[in-house]
Amino acid sequence: MKTLHGIAASPGIAIGPAFRFRQVDLRYGRYTVESADAEWARCQAALETARKQLAAVHAKAEAESGAEQAAIFEAHILMLEDPDLLEMVQKDIEEHNVNAEAALSDATEKYAQMLEALDDEYLRARAADVRDVAARVLRILLGVAESPTAGLATPSIILATDLTPSDTVMLDKSLVLGLCTAQGGATSHAAILARSLGLPAVVGASQVLEVPDDTILVLDGREGTLLVQPDAGTVALYRERQAAGARVLAHVQQWAHEPAVTRDGHRVEVVANIGNVEGAQAALGAGAEGVGLLRTEFLYLERTHLPDEEQQYLAYRAIVDTFGDLPVILRTLDIGGDKKLPYLELPDEMNPFLGLRAIRLCLARPELFRPQLRAALRAGAGRNLKVMFPMVAMVAEVRSARSMLEQCRAELLAEGKSVAEEMQVGIMVEIPAAAVMADRLAAQVDFFSIGTNDLSQYTCAADRTNAQVAWLASAFQPAVLRLVRDVIAAAHARGKWVGLCGELAGEPLAIPILLGLGLDEFSMNLPAIPLAKQIIRSLTLEEARQVAQAALELDDPEAVQALVKERMPLPAA
Ligand code: PEP
Ligand code: MG
Repeated sequence: MKTLHGIAASPGIAIGPAFRFRQVDLRYGRYTVESADAEWARCQAALETARKQLAAVHAKAEAESGAEQAAIFEAHILMLEDPDLLEMVQKDIEEHNVNAEAALSDATEKYAQMLEALDDEYLRARAADVRDVAARVLRILLGVAESPTAGLATPSIILATDLTPSDTVMLDKSLVLGLCTAQGGATSHAAILARSLGLPAVVGASQVLEVPDDTILVLDGREGTLLVQPDAGTVALYRERQAAGARVLAHVQQWAHEPAVTRDGHRVEVVANIGNVEGAQAALGAGAEGVGLLRTEFLYLERTHLPDEEQQYLAYRAIVDTFGDLPVILRTLDIGGDKKLPYLELPDEMNPFLGLRAIRLCLARPELFRPQLRAALRAGAGRNLKVMFPMVAMVAEVRSARSMLEQCRAELLAEGKSVAEEMQVGIMVEIPAAAVMADRLAAQVDFFSIGTNDLSQYTCAADRTNAQVAWLASAFQPAVLRLVRDVIAAAHARGKWVGLCGELAGEPLAIPILLGLGLDEFSMNLPAIPLAKQIIRSLTLEEARQVAQAALELDDPEAVQALVKERMPLPAA
């Protein structure tokens, strides 16, 4: 048995065979071809290859899992033969001399969007299949060997160099037991997604790519270890731990719907970080009292084209409707950094985390921003929807974003549309400049939500996706905690409330500190909610204040964690 060490990224234990994720790049250019006939012939050849691949996959799936499981591939073959779809592609190539990749992607996306607009839930769900088939043909056209997960047929632990958020979104979750990557940090977006899906994950385990497919592994997402070829005794031990962890979670789940009130009667809100409507439903089940962070970019990452205003409106409205009167905070598009949209052609940057990201991109590209603001205003009509802007560094950005929001509101009213009458507007405090200027920024907004994932990386100048500096980018750094203290104090002095939606909010060891610093709202990944509420209920505000005070006087993140462990025995999970 060999033990690989990495960074603990998502708690839980996974036991199963290894499967290597094969990274592919499906970016394509749009260009004019010399011969439309030759291009259509190239496209037909790719379609035929896809058909043969699917027939083989279908036969394998039927033999291994039965006809019912295999039926999906039959449906994929039928999609490839759909005369309407093929006519659209052929027409585009012949009339515009456009390359097959672009013609095929445009046509399949239109088709997928048409399915999504239907009333029938089954047909709506087929949009994902159309996109899946389109990706297969695109891979053939681009000469990219196979899908990253071709051959993944049994539930496995996925091993990868790194996973982008879109890779993670595209994984078939029923076949994934856990994730282990060679690169990345605990707050890379793939790690955040793993946590929100309740998938155990370890990142930054540099030797993981040396592990062959099918090797039996034990992944411990709390310790940050991967055991390669463990003996039977070790597997049995981890199975016991897995079961014990499940028991603790089942235990705290019993009170998940009770409010988070300290023993001395101080109530805070515990809400969820989500990215889509499935997350919204699951959040309610986990005991969330609303949504503190709706990461709208996942709606964009799941697609091959920009969603328009209507599609966004429908998606946001479905989420807000799930929550009834409970608050939902919609964060406007946060693209850039480690979240890239392949279909949005943006220039490469030397330092994308310091580049044209989030609100900077939205203010520079109103044609991106305005449909989202309009969709949010419409979705908020008669509901408790709030909007917040990410990556704010200075007051002028808030003024510009608010003024664009007001313009959109005026336009919608002039068009006779229903809009949110009073919508709270907030910002994320995730850049040190904003934390330092919190007193000035508080005058511009209704609330703050502190983004410690970014605040830590910018405060300590340590890339959150770089395993080599992960310890520096820890949100337990006293420097970060002192900024959190100052932001809360500045907002409270001006009568504004403060939430925190970085991963720190759901960390059992951070909860007493944040409570003691006066945080009003804790927003976290769903699986963390029941335990977080239980921890809050086990404390008094005074105890929490004392531990927070002591933590701020320490030198490093390890000392802070050790202090909380020593002072407050927390339920283990
Ligand atoms: C953060 O930075 O803490 C945050 C919640 O935003 P994201 O992780 O999406 O950058
Ligand atoms: Mg952020």
